Amino acid sequence: MADRPTVAVIGAGFSGVLTSVRLLLEPMGPRVLLIERGPRFGRGAAYSSASPHHLLNVRATNMSAFVEQPSHFIEWLGRTGSPDQGQAFVTRDRYGQYLQSILRRAAGQETGAARLVLEHDEVRTLARDGEGWRLELGVGRSLFADIVILALGNLPPPPQDGVDEDVLSSPRYAADPWAWDPASAPADGDFLLLGAGLTAVDVTLSIQEARAGARVLALSRHGLSPRPHIDAIPAAGPADFAPSGTPARVLRQVRAAAQTDWRRVIDALRPHVHTLWRGWSLAEKQRFLRHLRPWWDVYRHRLAPPVAARIADLRARGLFEVAAGRLRRLRADAQGVWATWAPRGGGPPIERRFAAVINCGGPRADLSRSGDALIQSLADAGLARPDDCRLGLDVDARSRVIGAEGLANDALFAIGPIARGHLFEITSVPDIRIQAADCASAVLNLLALRARRVGPVADPAAGLVADLAAFLGQSVDELDVELASLKFTRRVRNAWELRGRRAAFDEIALWLETRRGRGKGGS
Ligand SMILES: Cc1cc2nc3c(=O)[nH]c(=O)nc-3n(C[C@H](O)[C@H](O)[C@H](O)COP(=O)(O)OP(=O)(O)OC[C@H]3O[C@@H](n4cnc5c(N)ncnc54)[C@H](O)[C@@H]3O)c2cc1C
Repeated sequence: MADRPTVAVIGAGFSGVLTSVRLLLEPMGPRVLLIERGPRFGRGAAYSSASPHHLLNVRATNMSAFVEQPSHFIEWLGRTGSPDQGQAFVTRDRYGQYLQSILRRAAGQETGAARLVLEHDEVRTLARDGEGWRLELGVGRSLFADIVILALGNLPPPPQDGVDEDVLSSPRYAADPWAWDPASAPADGDFLLLGAGLTAVDVTLSIQEARAGARVLALSRHGLSPRPHIDAIPAAGPADFAPSGTPARVLRQVRAAAQTDWRRVIDALRPHVHTLWRGWSLAEKQRFLRHLRPWWDVYRHRLAPPVAARIADLRARGLFEVAAGRLRRLRADAQGVWATWAPRGGGPPIERRFAAVINCGGPRADLSRSGDALIQSLADAGLARPDDCRLGLDVDARSRVIGAEGLANDALFAIGPIARGHLFEITSVPDIRIQAADCASAVLNLLALRARRVGPVADPAAGLVADLAAFLGQSVDELDVELASLKFTRRVRNAWELRGRRAAFDEIALWLETRRGRGKGGS
């Protein structure tokens, strides 16, 4: 036990818990130090709410934590008093209980026993210490780990432009919707939500619980609201649907296929999202984010039918309204907060007074302005950098964090929404559970290599030819000659370090194939 290496997992939401569990399930795996600053392990931002109105936005049947055991969650529901819930949208509180039970079980069984250490604190800085890491905690203690996995979730939404200083410091303004306590809501007056997506829906339901009959206005640039799931079990998507090409081309293919039921087509698109995203150039990704993302978000991340019905009822009663426009200013006086916005499509600015304003914008995209101590320490030390689209931390195909110099760090990983720049759709359970399993196996491989004192980092090209030959089913000698003539050792090393071994192999295989094809054609 004393000889086992230590892997520190920072953040105990779904991503951190699942990666820890995967490591604990491996009999020869490491000691796991799971560190969480929030009040409870296994809850995170998504599954902390105890409200019966806060439901999963994915059917129970798709929420198993283990991709290889699709009915794991449904079976757990059945064993714990909620049978036949496969097509239901159960409460997020229930899902939090499920995650906690998985963690308890992994820690309690023989392989995981005495290997899980729970630390209730915030990691404020991370610095290299020999081959490992020194983690400074909020209370001033420090811990050592051989490998670190960042599972930090979403950063809070960015500050909105035009908000006066006195509003920012006022109790009538909540910069972070997850840190806002609805019980602190003013006793009268209307609420303004900045943003109209799933977070705004959540906050609206919480406001109604705390102050039934309160009026809520959600303001967003496009005025789009999340679409509802349908009650019926969705039909399978079109069998031959395999979109490809630029964002505009994909949009045309989706529109053409969505003549009958758009939900089937959006669901059928999901398995292709990672490939499409990785295949797009930076300019294409930026075009998608600018023009299509607001639409993608509302069609892809849908409301559970009971939630949609409740929102429709609030709308019908004049208690919930969505406005399209751009916020110009928020200023405070003794009566409340005055908001001014320019309506979308033109017209004179609108000014209205609210009792409280809650920022429900998307997660903070620009890490350099995150204000998070840990992120800041990583950026200052050059250990991490934002991805090209500024959606989060830059990582490679193996979830290794890429530093300021463009090289992936072998012993620092990041998973979940914080790493969404690499795959884009890595915000919900069906995606993260795969990433968590992959990340855990990359960590276990690295530890195995270290234990055998085989250094994959010192020279990634060493041994590569043998691996590549096995991958291509060719003899080492043959391949060696071919590679030497192509002179691409540096290229191989770069591909390996930046995008991971598998990606490097795929790329090289394709390249060799093209060269050989040309050779055969006599060109
Ligand atoms: C309100 C809401 C509802 C959602 N509903 C669904 C759903 O129904 N289905 C679905 O599939 N997905 C849903 N999602 C998506 C959700 O993001 C993922 O399912 C998943 O929970 C993300 O988990 P995570 O561990 O990456 O992030 P989080 O759950 O945010 O966990 C990150 C944890 O890291 C901790 N942390 C951060 N920094 C530090 C630090 N420096 N030191 C110590 N601890 C730190 C935080 O306290 C937090 O607990 C929802 C998301 C939200 C916000």
